[in-house]
Amino acid sequence: MAKPNRVVILSRALSKLGYCSRSQAEKFIIEKKVSVNGGIVSQPAFRVDLSHDKIHVNAQAIPRKKKFIYILMNKPVGVVTTRADERGRKTVFDLLPKGEPFIVPVGRLDKETSGVLLFTNDSQLGERLTNPESKFPKTYRVIAEGTVREEALEKIRKGMKIEEEYMTLPAGVTNVIHNETSTGCDVTIVEGKNRQVRKMFEAVGHRVIALQRVSIGPLQLGSLPAGSTRRLTMQEIIQLRKSGS
Ligand code: URA
Repeated sequence: MAKPNRVVILSRALSKLGYCSRSQAEKFIIEKKVSVNGGIVSQPAFRVDLSHDKIHVNAQAIPRKKKFIYILMNKPVGVVTTRADERGRKTVFDLLPKGEPFIVPVGRLDKETSGVLLFTNDSQLGERLTNPESKFPKTYRVIAEGTVREEALEKIRKGMKIEEEYMTLPAGVTNVIHNETSTGCDVTIVEGKNRQVRKMFEAVGHRVIALQRVSIGPLQLGSLPAGSTRRLTMQEIIQLRKSGS
C-alpha cells in the first residue's frame, strides 16, 4: 500500500497533530511562536513533513503520540455546529464535557437538524468519514410537509438535481408513512452537501419540517437524550474503522 503523503502546511500540521484549531495555529505562527527544526517560521503556508520535521510551539515540542478520543453527541435543534459563533448562539462545543483535549466535529449538522454528531481528534478517520469517495452512509429521519408522492420519492432514490448544477448520488428511502398533513420517511445518503436532505425535498416541492440524523455508518443514535454525549465503545471504533469503501 502506498504511504500516505504527510507533507502539509504548518497551520494544518498543528491541527492535524491535535494541538489546536487551524485558525488558532495561524495566530501562533504569525505571532512567531512556532518553530520547525529549530527555526522560527512565520508563514502559516510553510510546508512541513509530519514524518520527520520537529515542530515546537512556545519552545515546547508537540507530543507525537496522542490518545484518540471519540465522542458521540445527540445534537439538539437550535444549536450551531461551530466552535465560536459570531452571533453568540449556543454551539455544540458548549455541550461537550469540560476538560476534553482538542476535538472537532466530523462534518456538520445545520442548526435546525438534530441527531448523531461525532467528535474526534483522529483526523485520519475524520477525513475518511467526510470524504465523498468513502461513500459513508448517513441516515436521516425526515418529516416533510404534505403528501410526498411515490414519483417524488423515486427522484430522490435515483439521484436528482439540487441547486441547478449538482446531481445527487442515489439515496435510500424507506419506512414511508403518510398522514393527513405530512410524510415521514428514512433517507440514507452517501455524500454530505450543505443542507442536502432539505434541498432534495425542496426540489420535489416539499419543505422539511423536522430532520434528525439517526446513524452514521455503524453508529446509531439509540436512546441518547438530546444534548447528551457518550464515548464510543471499542467495538464501535473498530466497526467505524472497517466500514466505508
Ligand atoms: N441534510 C440537511 O438538510 N441538513 C443537515 O444538517 C444534514 C443533511
